[in-house]
Formats: sequence, structure tokens, C-alpha cells
Amino acid sequence: MPELPEVEHVKRGIQPLIEGATIENVTFSPSVIRGKSEGKATIIKGISLEAFKQYTIQFTIEKVYRKSKYILIELMNNTTKRVLISHLGMAGGFFVVKNIDDIPITNYRKHWHVIFHLSNDWLLVYSDIRRFGEIRNVQTLEEYPSILEIAPEPFDDAALPHFLSQFEVKKFQNMPIKRMILEHRVISGCGNIYACEALFDASIDPHRISKTLTLNERIEVFNSVVKALEKGILYGGTSISDYVHADGQRGTMQNNLKVYKQKICSICQSPIETAIIGGRNTHYCKNCQK
Ligand SMILES: [Zn+2]
Repeated sequence: MPELPEVEHVKRGIQPLIEGATIENVTFSPSVIRGKSEGKATIIKGISLEAFKQYTIQFTIEKVYRKSKYILIELMNNTTKRVLISHLGMAGGFFVVKNIDDIPITNYRKHWHVIFHLSNDWLLVYSDIRRFGEIRNVQTLEEYPSILEIAPEPFDDAALPHFLSQFEVKKFQNMPIKRMILEHRVISGCGNIYACEALFDASIDPHRISKTLTLNERIEVFNSVVKALEKGILYGGTSISDYVHADGQRGTMQNNLKVYKQKICSICQSPIETAIIGGRNTHYCKNCQK
């Protein structure tokens, strides 16, 4: 599943090519059209295909940014504002190409679902092999409240005070710390791989109940999450699944993991333990993480 670093790379890949361009037309794949007619809402959620076109065609792309694992594209037509909100699901991706045939990965070339035809002759293409991703078209973010409840971006100054304040929230107090940091209301965009890596870096046992962490340990966990995400961005994310970037490049973070799906601890040489916490596979070193 694309996590924050992968989504950041998708955003960086498409942003310079699409900002400032006007969307001249939109094409939907046969499965998007069929899905809508069968009431399944494939990819395009919360809006009819006609209304999606009405609020996209002749709109100019003003700004592209990322919030947690969402890509947001602000559109403007005269005084009418719209926002495209996209989540890449399990294996979605955006590509900017001149022709569909230029998409470098066969599966993504085959499984295109939405094409935005831009005034600068580029095509912005949303491809999705498993079709778990989505694109919404809203007037304001208030129309999609789940995006408003996400914690501040982990790299923003507001993120640490927000994170620390969440230890006062009752439902998080008795949660294992591993589960708590996966909550996007607590810290934004820390997926499973990065949560395992961060707790190893902070030397904290993922089972620890969050209220038992000292203030210093809480700060340590936060700093380690930021460090893990920054490292993920630096290495272009992971390509543990079939995921690729907008430019077709694969991330190499999977070669730089310390604990996630590893066998031996790089510090003490003990075997890495696996546990299920909050339904997610968790990898940790019993010896180094207390
Ligand atoms: Zn160890």
C-alpha cells in the first residue's frame, strides 16, 4: 500500500507538469463507467460522472499538495473553486505522459481509469490495478470530513504538540503505542512499515501501553516517526508491493529497513520477533526495544 513517502513522490512527480494547466477534457475507463451504472462507484466517489466532468473541464489546476496519504488538486474556473481529493488505495498511481503508451509499467498502462487532458498537451492519468483508490471532486474539504480529522503534517511545527495532546484522549491511553501511532488523528501518514521502523529507532517495545510512556519517550517516538518518514522520502519509499512512482521509478526504502520483515537485529544480532498488534504485522527486537 502506498504510504506517505510514496504519495509524496507521486505528488513531486506530477506537480511541476500539471500546475497552471487547464483541464480540457476528462475520459473515464469502461470499468469506471460500468461501475457507476451498477452503483459501485469505481474510483470516482460521491459524485456522478457528468457532475465530475462539469466541475473539472475548463478548470485550471492551481495547486497540488499532499495531506497524509491524500493528494489534493485545487481547481479554479473564474470564481468557482473545486478540490480533487485522491487516495491511491492499494496500488493506484498518477502518471503524466503524452500518450497512454508512455506509461512505463505494463500493468499501469493497461489499468488506466481516468485521463485528464491538459492544455499543455500532457495527460494526467490515474491508473489503478486493484481499483481500491478513489478520486473525489468537492467544493470544500468540509464535504469530506475524514480529511479534516487528520493530524497536522508530521513535518509541521504543530505536529508534536498535537501528538503529545493525544495521550490525554481516553481511547488512546490504553492502546499499545504501535497501534496509537497508526491512528491518523494522532500522527499523520505513519503507516505500518514506518511505525515498526520508528519504534525500533526509539527503542520502544510496540506492545507498550501508551499511557506508560514517559514524556521523553513520547517525544522520542514522535521524533523517530518523523525520521522514518524522512528516510522513506529520501529513498523514494518502498516497493514491497507492485507500487511504482509517477516516473516509473521504484523506491529503495525496502533495502534500508532495520526491523520491518527483517530476520536479525542489526544492533544485537537477536532474531527479530513478529507479533500482531491491532491486526497488523509488527516486527521488533525484544532485546533492544523496552
Ligand atoms: Zn536488538
